[in-house]
Amino acid sequence: MKALVYRTSGKGHGRPSWEDQPHPTIQHAEDALVRITMTTICGTDLHILKGDLPTVTDARILGHEGIGVIEKIGTGVTGFKVGDKVIISCVTACMKCDFCRKGMLSHCRNGGWILGNLINGTQAEYVRIPYADGCLYHVPKDGNEEAMVMLSDALPTGFECGVLQGNVKPGDTIAIVGTGPVGLAVLLTAQFYSPAEIIVIDLDDDRLAIAKKFGA
Ligand SMILES: [Zn+2]
Ligand SMILES: [Zn+2]
Repeated sequence: MKALVYRTSGKGHGRPSWEDQPHPTIQHAEDALVRITMTTICGTDLHILKGDLPTVTDARILGHEGIGVIEKIGTGVTGFKVGDKVIISCVTACMKCDFCRKGMLSHCRNGGWILGNLINGTQAEYVRIPYADGCLYHVPKDGNEEAMVMLSDALPTGFECGVLQGNVKPGDTIAIVGTGPVGLAVLLTAQFYSPAEIIVIDLDDDRLAIAKKFGA
């Protein structure tokens, strides 16, 4: 299969390389094999290529967001079947460890952010998803893939880290620094909590124009 692979020069910086790679296989009973139909380039991928994430080593297939169709499942997967269309969460969660049981999935002792980091990721024709029951979500019938893929990472990151951690309340004045995908996700989801005023800050006029359209 074709995949986008991280190649490092050994001097910190890396480069993306479009390569033939072995088709992934089921390794554990809780695995699913997903044929990717849509993926993204996240800001995190750009950090990886700049050499900011030493956990990502040479030959890693990049990508931690995506939509796909289940091609194979392990014998321990109960919530999904072959042919199901799914959203892949950027966070792998076993749903059994102490952190998962507290709802802190990104701290999972057996997962966390590992896709496209410690294990091969979604910028490929196929990806192996460990603990499939904990990190796949069904795509609703007639769900728009371009919209749904935002749920893999960008939209929930903006909502959880910006709006929930920022404790946005009715009547608040809030400022969002940066109107990339995560900033725009904060802008959209902050409006669930009726702030009085939302100010966005960015150097890019086109991004600011979009932010204004979205309620800034
Ligand atoms: Zn991401
Ligand atoms: Zn866990």
